[in-house]
Amino acid sequence: MPGILRQLSGLGGCTHPIRLDGHRTEYDVDTRTGEIGNLLHHLDSSDLPAGQLLVRCNNRRTNRCPACAEVYRRDTFHLITSGLRGGKGIPEQVGAHPRVFATFTAPSFGPVHNRPSSGRPCRCGDRHDQDAPALGSPLHPDTYDYEAAVLWNAHAGPLWRRFSIYLRREVAKRAGLTQRRFREYARVSFAKVAEYQKRGAVHFHAVVRLDGPDGGDTPPPTWASAELLTDAIEAAAAKVHVDGLVIDGRTHTFTFGRQLDVRAIRSADFNGGQELTERAVAAYIAKYATKGAETATGALDRPLRFVAELAQLDISDHARRLIRTAWALGARKDLAHLRLRAWAHMLCFRGHFSTKSRRYSTTLGALRDARADWRRAQAATANGPAPETTYVLAHWVFAGTGLSDAETWLAASLEPAPGTEGEPTHG
Ligand SMILES: [Zn+2]
Ligand SMILES: [Zn+2]
Repeated sequence: MPGILRQLSGLGGCTHPIRLDGHRTEYDVDTRTGEIGNLLHHLDSSDLPAGQLLVRCNNRRTNRCPACAEVYRRDTFHLITSGLRGGKGIPEQVGAHPRVFATFTAPSFGPVHNRPSSGRPCRCGDRHDQDAPALGSPLHPDTYDYEAAVLWNAHAGPLWRRFSIYLRREVAKRAGLTQRRFREYARVSFAKVAEYQKRGAVHFHAVVRLDGPDGGDTPPPTWASAELLTDAIEAAAAKVHVDGLVIDGRTHTFTFGRQLDVRAIRSADFNGGQELTERAVAAYIAKYATKGAETATGALDRPLRFVAELAQLDISDHARRLIRTAWALGARKDLAHLRLRAWAHMLCFRGHFSTKSRRYSTTLGALRDARADWRRAQAATANGPAPETTYVLAHWVFAGTGLSDAETWLAASLEPAPGTEGEPTHG
């Protein structure tokens, strides 16, 4: 019993671990002759209490694995935060660079039930509650542009990439520099996350930062300001478009919607209550990095194999119609590159949920490596110092996923693993 509990507690609450069959053997190596010496350590999966090696699934999505998604959320929080106030190898001076938080929406595909910020009722005449199921669904489903809605999501990734090019151009223009010379003076870094609106359209939230020529390590030029950056973002977002798609004689052009929100980010010290703080921004991005399309599609979180599966799902008529449209368009050879059927469950957005430019801050991989190094160091302290050179023979074979009923029951009785509690949670 203690053995199986120890093995399960090593999963840190992961409920869908990957199971591996195999072995790992470590020998020490004579550093002078290169000869393999003593057997140091041998691990055989069949000797383990669970009969297999269990490895965390590392899924980022809360509705797949809450524990792994929580680790992902914290890592994302630190990644965003280090780009805003330094740390994790990023200098603290980035806190003084111009930074904004911007939200980019999709255009309208037809009026939907909403809660206007003006406090007026919805166009249907009702005042909807905050969690009213009608929110985000079309007022007139028969005239709602489902085709454009689905295709917009499918082009949201390319639209963002093009936007980032336009943005550098617009910043350069405001500084009176050519594109080529711009790189000698400044860099634009960003980190962004995709989120689904209730109507099923993807929108992006991004931290955009203006640095010197070598990124966060170098001070931005004197002309760089949050105002200039805001102005350039607005210009680039208004200009950017992806076109060239023609379906049955209809030419589609994909642009951002007119609803664009850009706000300067202040450091926590200047938080007057109204200001957007570094912490709030990082928490917001981290939260949405662990979500999929569930705000729009509810229970559906896996690819569909047959469109007939839709009938069995507890999803809104609007989501059903978006997916049906995706499925129908997915049959077209000329749209094969959009992989509409494979991504129908995500309403055709197939981009990464959270992305960042190379120089924004550290990487999720670096954070994971640091954690693994720390664990190894802890283990080494417990088992005595590791020899300098080891020879490792290992062979692992995928044997399935998940926990047995008994393991699930035992795992549920465990306390949260050390190091996964005590950090802030965010609304
Ligand atoms: Zn997991
Ligand atoms: Zn309404």
